Amino acid sequence: MLRFATKSLLVAWASPYSVMGLMIGGLGMLWGGKCRFRDGAIEFYEGGTGWFVRHLPPGVHTAGFTLGHVILGQTGVGLILVGAHERIHVRQFERWGPLMGPAYLLASAWVWLHGLDPYRDNPFEVEAFDEAP
Ligand SMILES: [Zn+2]
Repeated sequence: MLRFATKSLLVAWASPYSVMGLMIGGLGMLWGGKCRFRDGAIEFYEGGTGWFVRHLPPGVHTAGFTLGHVILGQTGVGLILVGAHERIHVRQFERWGPLMGPAYLLASAWVWLHGLDPYRDNPFEVEAFDEAP
């Protein structure tokens, strides 16, 4: 019971981003996108969602993009390949909640100002790539 209550609080804490992900994924389904629940997250892929993810930086190489408990991807197979990495981001959203977006962007700006790569050297990505390359 305590575990369910804790998980419910974490889902609620990350929910502002999950709602954004649901809106993007829902729109993607209007253009042929697919949806499934897998390993504690809702995954949207193909169709309009695939198109959206392909147009995120760094473009065609982006396999997945996490917003709260929603993971957006180009393809279902691609989401399986990056699933472990994206679930580290889900845990980060559970930890940071509404602060995740600003914290991620500030971390990217900080490392960029110090001459590092704003994506690969971002501490959120470093943690995700360390635990799930
Ligand atoms: Zn990542």
